[in-house]
Amino acid sequence: MSNPSLGTGTPLVALALSGRTALVTGGASGIGRACVTRLAAAGAHVHVLDRDPAAAQEAARACGGTAHVVDLTDMDALERVLERRGLAPDVVVNNAGFQVVAPIHEFDPEDFRRIMAVMVEAPFRILRRALPHMYANNWGRVVNISSVHGVRASPFKSAYVAAKHALEGLSKVTALEGAPHGVTSNCVDPAYVRTPLMEHQIADQAALHGIAPDDVVRDVMLERTAIKRLIEPAEVAEFVAYLCTDAASFISGASLPMDGAWTAR
Ligand code: NAD
Repeated sequence: MSNPSLGTGTPLVALALSGRTALVTGGASGIGRACVTRLAAAGAHVHVLDRDPAAAQEAARACGGTAHVVDLTDMDALERVLERRGLAPDVVVNNAGFQVVAPIHEFDPEDFRRIMAVMVEAPFRILRRALPHMYANNWGRVVNISSVHGVRASPFKSAYVAAKHALEGLSKVTALEGAPHGVTSNCVDPAYVRTPLMEHQIADQAALHGIAPDDVVRDVMLERTAIKRLIEPAEVAEFVAYLCTDAASFISGASLPMDGAWTAR
């Protein structure tokens, strides 16, 4: 079967999502906020799911979208949001996440449980609700914001690395099940992105390694990337938007690095 969207001379990403609905978790900040802006610019009506009421409403207001305030550790609250009329997304961006840094023998089990809830169980519950709508339209896009830590490990990040590896598995199964229904699913795997989450990590790592915050970026965060800079959220969002085009309909089940050649080693 040929891809009918190719060869028309129209831009691939601009307004590719006119008439589509997108759901972005953690859309109030950082990468999620950039995705909200970019997908709205591509024509989508965007639902912003976040636990931060003011920032979620501001992100939605700025792009004519809809805010839903929910803590993704609370599965009953999430299910209530997903039952809302009109929340039938064609595009799901599972982005919400957070980091806790500690050696395994000192890692708080409650932090481990919360990370798995937000970064694995919530994406599963969102997909479980969203896929029937996508299947009915024979079109859907799932983009999971994983991390280089979805395919590599680092010390002191047991819950985060475990959760991102699990998200990679969920994404691959979604790709296999969605393929007959026009649904693609991929993971985008960035190295360090310039966001509030990263700023918190700099402080945590500085304390853990006993070095100055300014040295953390150069000596810890950029140690393994060949390209010695942080990624901007807008660069990740641009890639996410591309994965939501018809031109990207054969890219599925992939773990797509945006890691400045970290994993090339
Ligand atoms: P961020 O802290 O800037 O934004 C995360 C958003 O998720 C916030 O708006 C926050 O309110 C929301 N959120 C967190 N926990 C939530 C919960 N329990 N319920 C609802 N909302 C919740 O972070 P970011 O850097 O933009 O990270 C976004 C995603 O990108 C995460 O999954 C992260 O693991 C991934 N990532 C980030 C980097 C990086 O360097 N910043 C690198 C690779 C992957």
